[in-house]
Amino acid sequence: MFKHKTSVLIANSKEKNTIVRQVPTHIIVHWRRYAYYFAFITLSLFLVSGYLVFQNTSRAYKDRLARANYVQSQIDLQKALTTFASIDSGIYRINTFLQERGLEKLKLDNVGGVDEGFDIIHINEFTSFYDNQLADMEETLLKLPLGKPYDGKVNSLYGYRRNPFTNKGAEFHSGVDFRGRQGDSIRATGNGIVTFAGYNGGYGKCVVVKHNETLETLYGHLKQIDVKEGQKIQSGDHIGLMGSTGRSTGPHLHYEVIFNGKKINPLKYISFDLE
Ligand SMILES: [Zn+2]
Repeated sequence: MFKHKTSVLIANSKEKNTIVRQVPTHIIVHWRRYAYYFAFITLSLFLVSGYLVFQNTSRAYKDRLARANYVQSQIDLQKALTTFASIDSGIYRINTFLQERGLEKLKLDNVGGVDEGFDIIHINEFTSFYDNQLADMEETLLKLPLGKPYDGKVNSLYGYRRNPFTNKGAEFHSGVDFRGRQGDSIRATGNGIVTFAGYNGGYGKCVVVKHNETLETLYGHLKQIDVKEGQKIQSGDHIGLMGSTGRSTGPHLHYEVIFNGKKINPLKYISFDLE
């Protein structure tokens, strides 16, 4: 049906550029039908491609939505808030403990705002806040003399006691005594600098360690001193051997905690008691 052609003349009124085209007569006769076909196909293509685009976009959107819902269901916001609150009170208790023991420099800021206005999108801020807070605390704790300088039995406490030589009268005992064996290792209770290492009257061979601006510890009656003045030491480092030098009735360690120059009860520091 397309064999029979008709010549179509496209003539320009001014110029000579007249164009002649051979078009199948069938198309010229039924041009409306062809115009409809053309319009129909164009419209169909447009609709199909539009549908595909929509389909893909909405699938990606649904996937993301499902993922977001899943993540949300995994985060129990209430539980997170409770955890933060309990970390806060833990930090507060430890801070109070440290402050009572003379570490004024500690930052006491809680995270604040956990109770109100907490949004899960701030989770990174919160975790980094706690990371920093705990790092500060660790640094401070290492400078604090904590625990025992010697793993032995305490046989004399801080405070007034009977004179151990005469067994008569009262005298003030400025530290805690640990009974032990001659030559056992004595360890520093915190990071610090050795400010005294030598013989000191009744203390005999004695070591003093300065831990921070306010706290020092003293280790007396040593048989041997294994550190030098000015030496930097870490918590738990060996400083000397247990002995009975100075005013002593037998091998033991006399241990003192000195706060702002005043000898205080070391038991507060030996047991990590948060009262
Ligand atoms: Zn003593």
